[in-house]
Amino acid sequence: MVPRILHVTPEMAPLIKRGGLGDVAGSLPHALAEEGLDARVVLPAYPGVLEQARRQGRFCHRLQGKLSVALNWRVYHAAVFHTRIGRTSVYLLEQPELFNSETIYPTETTPETTLPFAFLSLAALELPGVTEWRPHIFHVHDWPGALLPTALRWHRHYRHLREEYDTVLTIHNLAHQWITTPDALPVWGIGKESFTLDGLEFFGTVNVLKGGIVTADAISTVSPRYSWEIQGPQGGMGLEGVLTAQRHKLQGILNGLDDTAWDPGADPLLPAHYSSTELKGKGRCREALLRRCGLADDGRPLAVFVGRLFDQKGVDLLLGSAEELAGLGLRLLVLGSGHPAYERAVTELADRYPGDIFARTSFDEELAHLLYAGGDILLMPSLFEPCGLSQMIALRYGTIPVVRAVGGLADTVFDADGMPDGNGFVFTDHTPEELYHAVERALEHWRREDDWKKLITRGMNGDYSWRSSAAAYRRLYEGMMGFGSEPGA
Ligand code: ADP
Repeated sequence: MVPRILHVTPEMAPLIKRGGLGDVAGSLPHALAEEGLDARVVLPAYPGVLEQARRQGRFCHRLQGKLSVALNWRVYHAAVFHTRIGRTSVYLLEQPELFNSETIYPTETTPETTLPFAFLSLAALELPGVTEWRPHIFHVHDWPGALLPTALRWHRHYRHLREEYDTVLTIHNLAHQWITTPDALPVWGIGKESFTLDGLEFFGTVNVLKGGIVTADAISTVSPRYSWEIQGPQGGMGLEGVLTAQRHKLQGILNGLDDTAWDPGADPLLPAHYSSTELKGKGRCREALLRRCGLADDGRPLAVFVGRLFDQKGVDLLLGSAEELAGLGLRLLVLGSGHPAYERAVTELADRYPGDIFARTSFDEELAHLLYAGGDILLMPSLFEPCGLSQMIALRYGTIPVVRAVGGLADTVFDADGMPDGNGFVFTDHTPEELYHAVERALEHWRREDDWKKLITRGMNGDYSWRSSAAAYRRLYEGMMGFGSEPGA
């Protein structure tokens, strides 16, 4: 029997993406298809998403019948559209009242602002009624999907389905848990009996991610290192006890990259293409990048940062060392949006050092690709990093990562000074000095041209694909379904 998996996610590249989850939802299902599974995706049709799909040349077909969910003491209906991304079937839920903002994630989690994700979770359970395709396993991602396994245990209308489906919850980032007030429970239709220490209760509030953790049949995190970091007080964000108690069903499976979407040999957003054996195109990307930033090329190495401007990404270290880094004789190019205070700070820094530091505080896919391709060094001084894709993209694009040894960064980047097959530079303490010294070491290698080229080649030739991780997910699904056979059996 071919396992049928429905991924429930708020974002999916290339339709709509706000971060790494979008990349993962856009690439894991394809990788699972390669493993012989029938993996599909359901996500909201935010404003512009159907248009975006059509612009990309995809046929969007509206399915017959409406999907209905009782929520907030009324019934919400959604139209279901089907499209394909590669071989993957994607269901888009059009519910303009709830899915009305491309921002996707609310800044505050009140019962009202979280209605869209409550709807998404419950609508996924209603989907088989419209599609006539029934998954064996619902694979939900982060807090926006965590209400689904919770509903299978405690929702009066859905709990009878509990024996019919298995559930997997993937934690992409424990920092976001969806904590709200207990009066949300009746709004969602979740019974009061869920509000216990072993259920959704969390210091007097309701914690939906915790509900997902205790009710899902299996939990994965996006790197092995992160799966044990979250069982300790530093990484657990208050849920370390719950995660430790549930560790029998927890495993870390490293995210992969979609190596067709992130390919310097064919990337349509790059002005020139290159490979590990023919690097000339990387030089042309550098020229285009500098032009785009309004800078003339003076031969200095380019240290780049691409990421959300939040504490998680170690922006404080970046800001705290930027002037000293520029003093090392490199240029710093920053692309990121996020916390307004951080956006202001990087903009001010760039204004103060116009020839040395460049900053753009928007979400700009094209510039991101140019930075990965045209840069020399990628800075990723994260405070914590469940997996991180930017360092893998950088490696694939021949840009050497300088990272802090946390989460997925520690699982993918190995120090070139410490290991014969190192592919980057790693530091441990969360201080600007440590970042500075790691970059200083990277520059010593950059000055030795042959040495640097070897590093680039090693990075570019690494395997960051989904292959082995998709196989790990297949084994997980098959184990849950009670068989461990070859794909397609
Ligand atoms: P996270 O999921 O925590 O944001 P990841 O490293 O896993 O971090 O993934 C981030 C993804 O989002 C990468 O593909 C990165 O290139 C992209 N990204 C982040 N910020 C921006 C931005 N301002 N413009 C374009 N792409 C961005």
